[in-house]
Amino acid sequence: MKKNERIYKVFQILKFLYNTKWIKSYKSNKYPEILQFPITNNCNSKCVMCNVTSNILKNEMTIDEFRKIINDDIFKEIKSVGINGGEPFLCKNLIPFVEILVKKEKLEAINIISNGFLTNSILEKTKNIYELCKKNNVKFHISFSLDGYGKIHDKVRGIPNVFSRTIETISSIVNNKEIYCDSYDIGCTVVKQNIDYLVELESFAEKMNWNIKFRLGIKNERLHNSKIYNDFSILEDEKARQSAKEFFFGQILKSKNLYDQYKYWAIFTYLDGDESRKLGCDWQENGITLDGEGNIYYCAVESPCIGNLKNNDGSKLFFDKENLKIRTNIINNKCKKCIHDYVGQFKYKNVIKFLYWKFNRKFIIRKYR
Ligand code: SF4
Repeated sequence: MKKNERIYKVFQILKFLYNTKWIKSYKSNKYPEILQFPITNNCNSKCVMCNVTSNILKNEMTIDEFRKIINDDIFKEIKSVGINGGEPFLCKNLIPFVEILVKKEKLEAINIISNGFLTNSILEKTKNIYELCKKNNVKFHISFSLDGYGKIHDKVRGIPNVFSRTIETISSIVNNKEIYCDSYDIGCTVVKQNIDYLVELESFAEKMNWNIKFRLGIKNERLHNSKIYNDFSILEDEKARQSAKEFFFGQILKSKNLYDQYKYWAIFTYLDGDESRKLGCDWQENGITLDGEGNIYYCAVESPCIGNLKNNDGSKLFFDKENLKIRTNIINNKCKKCIHDYVGQFKYKNVIKFLYWKFNRKFIIRKYR
């Protein structure tokens, strides 16, 4: 079908519309299907947009504690787990935890996000993780953070000379993908410190044939970054906001995939002044966050901790009436203006706005060509 571009485009739009949400579907008694697992708050990076190391976890779960916790009923429907941190490869129990996770009956996918600094250790552990996943029919995806080319990456990450280490790790994985993962991608967080240098990073990724995605650096409860927000956020700086607007506009035009176009359009319109959330978010209805100490949260961005699972029942905490008020408050008030790049089903009215914007733009360009 890709041979016939027009038919392919129509097919893409139909598929896109099919996945659109027509009605509000939030059910407060639904068990979560997606787990975000910040396995440790230890980190070997000092990113300008993250302050997670100000909250080092003192009582990280032991292997036995994790085995008990992950088999709590609240995780019985989990299909996908995203492991992040801190730097997940610093967690000494990463492999034993994955060994336990892959045994979960309904698990379909594991995704790990890393800064890629510890090349040898990451390569060795990634190989083991992929073997475990393959044996248990679980898909394995790995993401690396790359926030600039050369010194800009080092500046955003707050550590000198880490660009070359990250590149070495990514190159080794990409060039030998069959032994490390099913899929990979590279994520760049857009902040004041890199906004004027993203074109350089983009050309580098293009030259390397790497799949790079861009997201905005935002305030995030889990990262404890509200105190440093003004130092990195492009939203608080008119010039940086304008540069970001232009950059994301360019991304809409360059992206081949309709979902990426929609994501970048949602960010662009947000920067342009319409600060309503147009992206979906699986965390509103389907997600749960578990940290390295066994604490749980509804979503990482806005939710306070709703309890610890070392000595408590997960379902009771998750479906507790008082706790559910926190979740409703997040959905009714915080989600509306949240620009985190989590995805989920898009709302019909926003998709129509997007398609109108897309075709209108095309029509105007054709008219004045
Ligand atoms: S939209 Fe934002 S605040 Fe709402 S659930 Fe998703 S990540 Fe949390």
